[in-house]
Parts: sequence; C-alpha cells; structure tokens
Amino acid sequence: MSLAQGRSYLAIPGPSVMPDEVLQAMHRAAPNIYEGALVEMMPELTAGLREVARTEHDVAIYIGNGHAAWEAALANTLAPGDKVLVPSTGRFALGWAEMAQRSGIEVEIIEHPLGTPMDPARIEDRLRLDTEGQIKAVLAVHVDTSTSVRSDINAVRQAMDAAGHDALLMADCIASLGCDHFEMDAWGVDVMVTGCQKGLMVPPGMAFVFFGPKAAQARRYMERVSWYWDWEPRSRPDIFFQYFGGTAPTHHLFGLQVALKMIATEGVDAVWARHRVLADAIWTACEHWSDGGALSLTVPDRAHRSCAVTALRLGAPHGSELRKWCEHQAGITLGIGLGMSEPDDPKGHGFFRLGHMGHVNGAMILGLIGTLQAGFDALGVPYGKGALDAASQVIGAATCLERSGSAVP
Ligand SMILES: *Cc1c(COP(=O)(O)O)cnc(C)c1O
Repeated sequence: MSLAQGRSYLAIPGPSVMPDEVLQAMHRAAPNIYEGALVEMMPELTAGLREVARTEHDVAIYIGNGHAAWEAALANTLAPGDKVLVPSTGRFALGWAEMAQRSGIEVEIIEHPLGTPMDPARIEDRLRLDTEGQIKAVLAVHVDTSTSVRSDINAVRQAMDAAGHDALLMADCIASLGCDHFEMDAWGVDVMVTGCQKGLMVPPGMAFVFFGPKAAQARRYMERVSWYWDWEPRSRPDIFFQYFGGTAPTHHLFGLQVALKMIATEGVDAVWARHRVLADAIWTACEHWSDGGALSLTVPDRAHRSCAVTALRLGAPHGSELRKWCEHQAGITLGIGLGMSEPDDPKGHGFFRLGHMGHVNGAMILGLIGTLQAGFDALGVPYGKGALDAASQVIGAATCLERSGSAVP
C-alpha cells in the first residue's frame, strides 16, 4: 500500500507549485512571434514584473534560469580585474561568487556563521577600508535558499551609504521575489536578479535582471558586453522581439502573463502576508517538534528566516529517509539539504528543506505539516508534542475576525 496517490505536491524551494491557470495558458498552439498577442503583451508583462519588484526601473528578460540572471548581471557591469564583495550566508552566495571568479572578477567573501544574516557593520567596515574604490559591487543574496537565511538588504544599502562607498548593490531575489518583502527602489538596490520558477510560479526557463540608472551607467562604461547578455536591447519591450537574441520563450511568456495577473489580483502586499502566515505555521510546528526532539531549524531567530523556504536538520540518515517516505508514502516531495554536511554525515543525509513559495495555501501547508509528523512516526524519529495544534492555531488566529470584523472577507 502507498498513500501517495492523488495530486502530488512539490514542496521544494524551486521549481515551485504551478497554478493550473498558468499551465492552461501555456497549453496552446505555437503562436505568431512577429505580431499579435505575444508582442502586444510585452508592455503589460514588464509593468507586472516592475510591480512585484517594487521598481520603476528597467527589466531585461532572458531565456535562462537563475544562473543565467547571475551571469547577465555580472556581464553588464563588471569587467575582468574588477573586484566584488560577497557577504555570504550560504551556498548560493558562494555560487554567484564562483561564477564571478570564473569571469575573471576578483572576489572577496565575508563569511557569516551558519544560520545568521549578513552583518551590515562588517560590510560597512570593509568598504571604509576601500579608500581607492576598488570594490565595484556588493553581491547580496536576499534569501540564501541553502540555509533559508533572509538578510536585510535595506540595511546593506545603509551600510554602503554610511561608508560613503559607491559600489553597486546587486541583490539575488531568485528565492524571495513574490514571497518575502522586498522593495528594489525604496531599498536602493541597483541590480536585482530573479527567475520565473519560484515565487513567480512559472516552469523554469526565464531569467530577469532589473537595473536602475546607476547600473545602466556602469553598463555604458563597459568596454564590451557579450551580445547575448547585453541588457540594453532586452529591456525594451518595443524591440524585444526583433532583438531577443534568438526565439522568444513563447509559452513561458503566456504563463508569466497569467501568473503576474494572479499576483496583481491578490495584491503584492497580500501575497507577502500570505507567505508570512504560512511560514509562521511551519516555524511554529518545527519549534514544537524540536523541543525535546531530533529536529532543528538552521536559522534560530525568526526575524532572520525566509517566508519562502525553511532549512532543517533531522540527523543522518533521517533527513533522506523522511524525504523518501514523504514522496513514496504521502505524495509530497521535500527538498534536499544543500551545501550542508557534518563530520559523520559528509553527504548531508541529515538535512532537508521545505519550499513554501508561490502557489501555496493553508490546506497545503497544514497537509505538509501533518505529513511531516506522520513521517516522524513512521521513521521512529522523536519529536516534541503539540505542533499540529499550534500550527493550525496560527492559521486560525491570522484569519479570525480580521480587521473587517468578519472571518470571511
Ligand atoms: C534557485 C536559486 C538560484 C539558482 O537558480 P537556478 O534557476 O537553479 O539557476 C540562485 N540563487 C538563489 C537564492 C536561488 O534560490
């Protein structure tokens, strides 16, 4: 017997669950790429993307994944020999740093203790020492999906300003966009990179690079920018199709159009609030389980946790066993632990992650939490009591007699 029949649920931190509306929008005959709906939707798409990113500035669209967005951001602003500062809170910061290094960019990493966010004071101190302005950019991962640490990007900007340094602030919002509160313009972010397959709820395949005036200026000073990555033509909806650098991602664009409409209808603030409540339910359950149990959260302080992903340790081999049990016995797929290991667990079998980004609701999250606890029972893993009650209370309390005075808005 297996209880995994029924609709499966991919609870990994990207790609995320896709709405049926997005899939239906993509299920169509090959469209005309020269004129008609596809070409006409471009201004609407860029407007929708700007709204989610909270920016008035430009966005360039690429066929690619998050790694492509990383490379595009570097290619438009940094030349071999330039230097960048990378405050690291996990594997993804190191990945972006490695990519910069391979492009001939000099990288200096500020390591942070596991499970803690970027320390703006350390960034400020380092920038103050850079009196010759050798550091051209700070590469800051908003939510590092490997540890689920969320850093305060606004505080990083303030640290840069306090140091009087004019490096570009580049933010990786691949995991966080459309999940965790983020304001590109209000927080003074010069470049923001993201992909379509996490909070934006579209299958993997599109990458976005948002850039403000200071970054646009840096692009103009570049001696050369590779033709494919050049963000200037790609950020112009009017010539986007003539200059895509190849065929446009036709069906993804239709899917994205619907996903952005769904986000706009719900409202970006409401999307963030939903993620916050659902994450709160997960954290509450995990905190109960960890009390006297085997489970622990990678990020001890709630204030530093992402609302999109939660990284956990259960101890080897239980992390991998739980993932297997959930997939084969309950129809839920959990994320692997990424970049995590211990001396007696070099392959990281003790770790796993929960994705709770994008198209998720209360029923899914309560189902996820109940399933995890059933898995602990099935595997004989000890856990603290009261998690399910506490999690359901979080959801009840967040939606009970909301300001309107009615539980039903
Ligand atoms: C997913 C992710 C990436 C990588 O995106 P890919 O689409 O897998 O290339 C980079 N940074 C962060 C923070 C991510 O969550």
